[in-house]
Amino acid sequence: MARVFNFSAGPAMLPAEVLQQAREEMLDWRGSGMCVAEMSHRGKEFVSIAEQAEADLRELLAIPENYRVLFLQGGASSQFAMVPMNLLRGGDKADYLNTGSWSKKAIAEARRFCTVGIAASTEDARFTRAPAQDELALDPEAAYVHYTPNETIEGVEFPSVPETGDKPLAADMSSTLLSRPLEVSRYGVIYAGAQKNLGPAGLTVVIVREELIGQPLAGTPTLFDYRTHAQTDSLYNTPPTYAWYLAGLVFQWLKRRGGLAAMAAINARKAEALYAAIDASGFYANPVEPACRSWMNVPFTLADPELDRTFLTEAKAAGLVTLEGHRSVGGMRASIYNAMPEEGVRALIAFMREFERRYG
Ligand SMILES: *Cc1c(COP(=O)(O)O)cnc(C)c1O
Repeated sequence: MARVFNFSAGPAMLPAEVLQQAREEMLDWRGSGMCVAEMSHRGKEFVSIAEQAEADLRELLAIPENYRVLFLQGGASSQFAMVPMNLLRGGDKADYLNTGSWSKKAIAEARRFCTVGIAASTEDARFTRAPAQDELALDPEAAYVHYTPNETIEGVEFPSVPETGDKPLAADMSSTLLSRPLEVSRYGVIYAGAQKNLGPAGLTVVIVREELIGQPLAGTPTLFDYRTHAQTDSLYNTPPTYAWYLAGLVFQWLKRRGGLAAMAAINARKAEALYAAIDASGFYANPVEPACRSWMNVPFTLADPELDRTFLTEAKAAGLVTLEGHRSVGGMRASIYNAMPEEGVRALIAFMREFERRYG
């Protein structure tokens, strides 16, 4: 079996242990005689899988009692609409922090529902940093504040959680959730598409404070109302059962590895090693302010972009795949989520050094 180190931003690598367990359980999940994908979502087998996954996620993130965890479809992109539909609660304004490509998409979608205030923007700095607390110009009439803690494309991460007073804070954590411990109580809603750091595509996790549920915008479709899913334990209609199951296996893998504090230590080591290698070279460069560099997505450029193709071809031959940067920014990007082993980062660094020696 030849597994590669896959640096894709998403869908991303899954832990080999999890895939092996899924393979073992594929034809007969624990004596049920069925694959999880064949089970009724209302049967006791699947309900036990769903409940275990939620319990494990709650334990990993120490999610307080007054938060609901929803297992939905539609991707993080559908949350760009569901957040305003559910969080405006009679208001007609919301504040957004504009810090990169994904916040721009969230802003564009929110504009369909309300007046969007840009409480801070780092566009002038070409999204190479996160705004400081004293740069935030919050509107007292805004119903909530939305931000993107980790900008997957630009590789920019907020070093701390913005203070928003009594305004609910909404966070698109698609590319950072479960990379380290989190103080859930600081947020009104946290959402993430699973395919970066949680599991396979098709599942979207939403963690929302109970009191924010139940006042949807007039005309909100049933499936876009958080209440629909909160009242039915995310079983209103058929959920993405197999993706939910696989995410549950990832949560158990994280627990076996020592939880999120242990993952944070590993992720910090991986990111530090890669940024140190980039900074130590005159050949590779990363434009992001050091304090705001993402632990999960590391974009970098080569001194001569003419060498990009060669770099990608030779990296692939060495078992290091999907290193091309997002089509909107070019260059390279190494996404190093939880499932990327330290060995994979070491292999990438060794490859980069050797490439520089030969072409630099
Ligand atoms: C990938 C990503 C999205 C889009 O997720 P989908 O599940 O494809 O809709 C949104 N926000 C961030 C920060 C992302 O990384």
